[in-house]
Amino acid sequence: MAGYGPIPAATARELAAEATWRRILTDPVDGQPVAVSHRRFPAPGLSRLLHTRDRTCRFPGCRKPARFCDLNHVRPYTDGGPTTAGNLLALCRRHHRAKHDGG
Ligand SMILES: [Zn+2]
Repeated sequence: MAGYGPIPAATARELAAEATWRRILTDPVDGQPVAVSHRRFPAPGLSRLLHTRDRTCRFPGCRKPARFCDLNHVRPYTDGGPTTAGNLLALCRRHHRAKHDGG
């Protein structure tokens, strides 16, 4: 683990299950990072929990299946909102954009 050193595989899995991920593209030749996404991705376990809990987009009347929705921070991440089940909900792209565009 960067800044710490080797950790047991079980600890790495436990940390990864709770982590928020960013996509990092690397050069296939030298392995150097070439792009880092601004978008954050909840850990797979958290995504499965939210898709199961929400079932559909949480906007009233919207039936888009949660597995095709964005996972949106209720309290924005940039304002200190945690990436946890209690602060995330499924919104389809249309309703996610409407929220952020003031719609
Ligand atoms: Zn929707």
